[in-house]
Amino acid sequence: MANEWRLAPEGEALVETAGEIAAGVVRRSAADVDREARFPAENIDALRTAGLLSLVSARGVGGQGQGLRAAAAVGERLARECASTAMVTIMHYAAAAVIEQHGLEALRRDIAERGHLATLAFSEAGSRSHFWIPTGTATRTPDGIRLDAAKQLITAAGHAGVYVWSSRPSAAEGLSTIWAVPSGSAGLSTPRPFDGMGLRGNASAAIIARDVTIPESARLGEDGKGFDVMLGVVLPYFSLQSCAVSLGMMEGVLARTLSHVTASRFSYDGSRIADLPQVRGHVARMRLKTDMVRGLLLDALDAVEGGRADAMLRVLEAKAAGSETSLEVHDLAMRVCGGAAYRRDVGVERFFRDSRASTVMAPVTDALYEFIGRALCGMPVFG
Ligand SMILES: Cc1cc2nc3c(=O)[nH]c(=O)nc-3n(C[C@H](O)[C@H](O)[C@H](O)COP(=O)(O)OP(=O)(O)OC[C@H]3O[C@@H](n4cnc5c(N)ncnc54)[C@H](O)[C@@H]3O)c2cc1C
Repeated sequence: MANEWRLAPEGEALVETAGEIAAGVVRRSAADVDREARFPAENIDALRTAGLLSLVSARGVGGQGQGLRAAAAVGERLARECASTAMVTIMHYAAAAVIEQHGLEALRRDIAERGHLATLAFSEAGSRSHFWIPTGTATRTPDGIRLDAAKQLITAAGHAGVYVWSSRPSAAEGLSTIWAVPSGSAGLSTPRPFDGMGLRGNASAAIIARDVTIPESARLGEDGKGFDVMLGVVLPYFSLQSCAVSLGMMEGVLARTLSHVTASRFSYDGSRIADLPQVRGHVARMRLKTDMVRGLLLDALDAVEGGRADAMLRVLEAKAAGSETSLEVHDLAMRVCGGAAYRRDVGVERFFRDSRASTVMAPVTDALYEFIGRALCGMPVFG
């Protein structure tokens, strides 16, 4: 569909470039990245070379000056071919958006001009998916701020140049404070490489911080006000981009399913799998569910950009709907592709495995249901 994202011409051109990269190097490397559980460095390099890592950086610091809508569109295009590459990219955009709003100019330029990769390092072994209550500490010392934490499942761990990092406040009241932590800081380690069921190219490993010293100027936002940064920037960026990645995966698996059912035949009479009305019904359901998520995502983007009263509700709904609908669509793909779906070369099983992650990526769907339910019942959403 022409400009389905309703972007201005510069944004549309950037998304087209992302689509070309997706259809080229990302498609070629996807199976290999998954099989070897290796970080898709060549894909991230291609995005960097095309200026797509600076997508959400302001023009004033050398970036492309785009926002959440373009970021979601790029994530969707990449996810049609490789969900790991898409997830690394959207984590970067979410982290870069925080740095754009709260970071020092030198760091903003590192991302915009030099294409440094950023990521969100929120989840911890202690607070698990409840990222808004970090247990890691930030202690004031004569040398600066000392960080100690056990982070879990951090995408692009060891590959990103900077982590947007949550901790308990260093002095103020409140639940959390956010920092920009250079990945080369002494005291940071990633004990084991990531060997996941899905999103195997993500490098979503644990990161341990022991006596890591950063300057106080690395703080992103006010001490103790991390939740405001999470709510104001991270939640809309991560949730809507996550929905876009689920959407791209649904498009990707539907395309592969249609190729399989229209090409595979029963040799006794030459009929195709697609000649079975049940199969056509299932692929129709896949299309409908995918289009429903696209409609909700576009409305959520409108709500956020327009400052609509229901914007937060739409953000929560879009993340939950994208994750859960994607599970249904990938289940249908496995069903109609039959035993062939188990074969790696058909390409459906990789999508199926990758599709499982979104539901358990924070905010997890069950927490989102609780937040949405609270809003519906007139209760404070976040307790
Ligand atoms: C592939 C992958 C990549 C990731 N990348 C990153 C990253 O880049 N940065 C980052 O910070 N984190 C990342 N994460 C971590 C992610 O955001 C979650 O924190 C993590 O997956 C939660 O796992 P857990 O076992 O700790 O969940 P738990 O907190 O143990 O939750 C398990 C289950 O308990 C239930 N539950 C938990 N809390 C609630 C609640 N409040 N209400 C209702 N039910 C609830 C849900 O059913 C939930 O699925 C990633 C995770 C994965 C799988």
